[in-house]
Amino acid sequence: MERLDRAFEKLLRHHNFAFLEAHSGAIYGVWDNFRLAYLNPGWFRFAKENDGEPRISKEWGLGRSILDCVSGDVKVLYQTKLNACLNTSEVWSHQYECSSDTVYRCFHQLVYPLVRRGGLIIVNSLVIEELHDPSKRQAMAADESVYIDENGFICQCAYCRRVKNYSVAERWDWVPEWVRRCPDNTSHTFCPACFAHYFPMATTDA
Ligand SMILES: [Zn+2]
Repeated sequence: MERLDRAFEKLLRHHNFAFLEAHSGAIYGVWDNFRLAYLNPGWFRFAKENDGEPRISKEWGLGRSILDCVSGDVKVLYQTKLNACLNTSEVWSHQYECSSDTVYRCFHQLVYPLVRRGGLIIVNSLVIEELHDPSKRQAMAADESVYIDENGFICQCAYCRRVKNYSVAERWDWVPEWVRRCPDNTSHTFCPACFAHYFPMATTDA
């Protein structure tokens, strides 16, 4: 499978390509329209270790927009951040959670603008990986009577993957069953804690 658009390689001249290739985490490059132009071997390794293959290789080839993996509020905010990175030529550095039902994982993401605003290179490094601590994260049962809104949707945070509890105001719960298998009637947004943490700029503007 093709991993690098030859034309994109020219934009990487200020980066050490051997380093990008050898990095243990997933690294990907996108054009200024956010379509994939480069995938490092770490991308495929991550997909394989997380049971994403062969689906990832089949569906996420060069040319696919990285914004296709998000929707709604999440898409709007992510796009705003990426555009700011392109237009200001400032690196966007942040941490995000990407846990499974059993393992807590925290990643550091660096988004580097490339020359002449031609695209971005996105570097993901694992910083914490440990079993969930049940004292900090109480596992709740997948009880539809508590977590489904009036339109029949479960609302899950796109980052921490907690779900909104409709029986108690401002409560978001950890429901491992829905992290393992995301139901079809799930909509993704941000819980207030993640929104404030990841998008402080947007919070100030609002
Ligand atoms: Zn959250």
